[in-house]
Amino acid sequence: MKWIPRQSQCPYCSTVYRYGDLKKLKYKKNAKCYHCGRIIKVSRSGWLILALELIAVYAVFNILSILLLKNLSFGLLFLINLIPTAAAALLLPLYLTLVMKKNTNE
Ligand SMILES: [Zn+2]
Repeated sequence: MKWIPRQSQCPYCSTVYRYGDLKKLKYKKNAKCYHCGRIIKVSRSGWLILALELIAVYAVFNILSILLLKNLSFGLLFLINLIPTAAAALLLPLYLTLVMKKNTNE
């Protein structure tokens, strides 16, 4: 399991895909490597890990908020929870994995 996002690279030619490149692939099933031209599968299995991490962050944020903030309202708690949600949304592309496509005849 990868708890820290690592760089995604083309499984064929090892070209490293940076954040900007991955962002474009976010909702795609397959992609063509811009370097070697081979078809790669975009796997979103890492998003489950991101979701689990997000739940853990929510727990910490909420426990700390309840313990540290005296006049805590639901509105404020909602805003506090928006921070990790926005951060997770930004991290989505980094949790994509590029894998070899099994059936090359497709
Ligand atoms: Zn490639």
